[in-house]
Amino acid sequence: MTTRIPIVEKILSANDRLALENNLKFDAAGVFAINIMASPGAGKTSLIEQTIKALGNRIRIGMINGDIATSFDADRASAAGAIAIQINTGGDCHLDAVMLQSALQQLELDKLDLVIVENVGNLVCPAEFKLGTHKNILVASIPEGDDKPYKYPGMYRGVDAVVINKMDLLPYVSFRTDFFKNGIETLNPGVEQFELSCKTGEGLSKWLDWVLVNIEKHGQDQKSTY
Ligand code: MG
Ligand code: ZN
Repeated sequence: MTTRIPIVEKILSANDRLALENNLKFDAAGVFAINIMASPGAGKTSLIEQTIKALGNRIRIGMINGDIATSFDADRASAAGAIAIQINTGGDCHLDAVMLQSALQQLELDKLDLVIVENVGNLVCPAEFKLGTHKNILVASIPEGDDKPYKYPGMYRGVDAVVINKMDLLPYVSFRTDFFKNGIETLNPGVEQFELSCKTGEGLSKWLDWVLVNIEKHGQDQKSTY
């Protein structure tokens, strides 16, 4: 039993080393990178699609999609105007830094400003595997229920921003926004939160501003290190 623990630690530290390499690669190319995580059906791809449609004429966007099978989501990102790469994990329920590294070899990073990684739909292990992106985003949605921060604390604790999607469904489902937000606040005090609907477009502009401000900030931070 006890021999399992060191093995897991070894795998994770190997992953962290590769994540750092990915991070340096993004920085060398001047690319800001975000990792989008959520349960299946929360609206990761819809958020990415709306982001590409809204910002695609101002910045150059690459998208890397991780799914167990199919390329449906990469196809949607590509149709919206991004350069999209598909990773099929063949059963793995999360992306890791090795998978991202091989996907990055297929992208001309020098020609991009933003890379959006869509992780495999799962509220457990994606939080355990660093990829080397600059910000981790969690997309939650109203129909999933207001208890999710309490049930999946690991996911809510580690992220830089929480997007609460499908706000247009609030009148139709029982969802206590205060209860939900208190859960987030306890686990991750002061974390950035966005209430929006990818379907109606309500609330999207605040999210888009945050993305743009962070791309700008990342560029400035890099210049200041020279
Ligand atoms: Mg998707
Ligand atoms: Zn997994």
